[in-house]
Amino acid sequence: MLDDISSILASLSHHSSGASPSDSGPTRKNVRCQNCGQKNIIWSDDPPEKRVCDSCGTTLKVRFGTPVPKLHGEYAGFWIRLSAGLVDCILVIVFTLVFFFLLLFSGIFFPSESTWRLMVTSEQSPFLLFIIWPVLWVIYYWLWTGLKGQTLGKMLFRIKVVNSESKKPGLIRALLREIPGKLLSTFGFLIGFFWIASDRQKQGWHDKIARTYVIKVMKTTSLLNGGEVSNAK
Ligand SMILES: [Zn+2]
Repeated sequence: MLDDISSILASLSHHSSGASPSDSGPTRKNVRCQNCGQKNIIWSDDPPEKRVCDSCGTTLKVRFGTPVPKLHGEYAGFWIRLSAGLVDCILVIVFTLVFFFLLLFSGIFFPSESTWRLMVTSEQSPFLLFIIWPVLWVIYYWLWTGLKGQTLGKMLFRIKVVNSESKKPGLIRALLREIPGKLLSTFGFLIGFFWIASDRQKQGWHDKIARTYVIKVMKTTSLLNGGEVSNAK
C-alpha cells in the first residue's frame, strides 16, 4: 500500500515539477518531420543545429522537459537535514514555552480582565500551548525560509533552501513549501521526508511542490563568483 501511495505521489510530483526523464541523462525522442514525414531520432542534449530532418534538413519541432537546474552547491542529504530539523524543532519548543510563560506571568501585555489573561490562567491554559506552538512553528519556518533561505538549524549546519536559480525561495514559495508541502510530507506517513534520501535531487515532497532544493552553503576565497563555488552536478 505504501508503495502504491509513493508511486502515485512520485508521478504527481513528476508532473508538477515539470521534470523529465532527462533527470537521468540525455533522453531521445522519435520525431516525425513536419515537412517530409521522415522519422528522426533527436537527443535532448543535441544543439539546435542538429535538430534537423536527416532527409530534407527542415528544423524539427521538438520539446523536452525542463532541464535539471544547475545549482550553486551540492545537494544536502537526509541526515544533515534531519539534524538541522531537530535543532529547529527544539528551538520552536523553547520559543513556545518562553512565549507561553510570558503570557502566563505578564499582566503588562495582557490586562487582568482580557481574554488572553483568562486563557492562560485558567485550567485550560495548557491548551493554549497547542495554539501557540503551531502558530510559532509556521511563522518560524515560513519567515526564515522565505526571507533568508535558512532557519537557525539550517544556518548551524550550513545548508540552505533555494529555488531552481539558486536564489532565496521568497515568501510565497516558502509558504507553499512550509504549509501544504510539509503537511503532505508529514501526513503521508512521513514518506515525504524520507523521499529526500532516495531522490536524485534530494527533494522531499514539500520541495517538489514548491520546486525548492536544499544545498550546502559553500565558502570560497574567490570573489569572482559571488562567494560561492559552483559544483553542481
Ligand atoms: Zn524532412
